[in-house]
This record gives sequence, structure tokens and C-alpha cells, in this order.
Amino acid sequence: MPSLETPERILIVGAHPDDPDAFCGGSVAAWTDGGAEVWYLIVTSGDKGVPDAETDLTTFTETREQEQLSSAEYLGAQGVTFLRYLDGEVFDSLELRERITLEIRRFKPDLMITHDPLTRNYRQHPDHRAVGFAALHSAFPTSHLPTFFPQHAQDGYESHVTRQVLLFGSDKPDTFIDVGATFERKIEALEMHVSQEAAFHGALRERMGQRAETAGEQSGQYDLAEAFLFVDLG
Ligand SMILES: [Zn+2]
Repeated sequence: MPSLETPERILIVGAHPDDPDAFCGGSVAAWTDGGAEVWYLIVTSGDKGVPDAETDLTTFTETREQEQLSSAEYLGAQGVTFLRYLDGEVFDSLELRERITLEIRRFKPDLMITHDPLTRNYRQHPDHRAVGFAALHSAFPTSHLPTFFPQHAQDGYESHVTRQVLLFGSDKPDTFIDVGATFERKIEALEMHVSQEAAFHGALRERMGQRAETAGEQSGQYDLAEAFLFVDLG
């Protein structure tokens, strides 16, 4: 395994409400139990994840944001920033990099976690790819170099080096976090996303359990784990 330094400040950049909880909620609980500070940055508010086309989208996205705020708090995160891009319409644009860069310079993480944009072996939402690329490009080089978005420094947000990145949803994971003690809390956090019950097909525990067991086997040391690909930006 690559040597992941114990993180103290963790920024998680996800495409939709519930992505951080589904991909790394057990790790978030383990890290916050250990005293780390965690912040979520959610790029869309999941407005396409609706049961039917008649649903009032304003109310629905408010519901999804509330669900994410509750579950993040339940896992010990400090807070959530919503960028409110439209679901399914995200691109790795300079504008999105500027928004993510501002959060990096504001929160100053030593570890950033986001989607693996290059995963190939299973279906991947286009927003996951776009957000993964935009977050990586924001961690390096844009948040590093003060010449990118110099207005941030004028507003008090200096450039920042995020030394470590973990990518979730990877087809080549090499870093595993033990979630044996926190798996139950992860499931409870995911169950707080009541609007997504239909999407989980009532098999949330089974699906997440299988995923955690597979990652545990891959780790060679844990019963239940979450899997990541490590990127060293130090
Ligand atoms: Zn998603």
C-alpha cells in the first residue's frame, strides 16, 4: 500500500448528494472519530435523481441538500458546500475549477478525496468523470499557483498545496481503509437519503456489504474496507 499520512483536514469533492457517503462514508466516520476535520463539496444537488418528471425540482433539490447535510453531520463532518450545478450537465470547465480551487484555498485540506475519472471496468456517471477531473486539476496546478485566480488572495484565500489525494470508484485501488467499526454508521447515513430509496432498490445493506467485503479481501488485512487509488501530489 502507498504510505498515506494520517489526514487532519479532508475535503471530499462529490458530484451528487450521497456520493461521499456511498463511496467513503465508513472512512469519514473513522477519520472524524480520530479527530480529523472533514468538509464536503457537492457539485450538483442531484436534481435528475427523481422518481417522475412531475416532481417540483426546487423542493426536491432542497430535500436532497437537507438529506446530505444531515448525513454528513451524522458522520462527523463539519459542513457541506453546494455549488448547485445542474445534475448530468457538469463539465471540467475553468469555472468549475475556480469554484473548487476556492474551497481548497479556504479549507486547506491535507487530503482531498474525489471520483476516479478514469475508471473503466464499470458504468460511471458522466458527472463523476467531470468532477474527478476538475477536482484533480484544481488540486494541481490551480490551487498551488497564486497566478491562477489571483482575486482569491485579495479576498484572503492564499494558494495551498494539497499533498495527498484518494480517488474512489477506482478500478485499480491500492489503498484501503478499515470500516469494520463504522460500516453500520455508513448504512444509517445512507438511509438518511430518503428520496433515493427507490434508487437503492431496497438492497442498500447488501450492496454496500458486498462492496466492503470485496475491498476487505483486496486489502488482505480487513474484513470490511473502502477502496481508493492514491495520488501523491506532495
Ligand atoms: Zn453520483
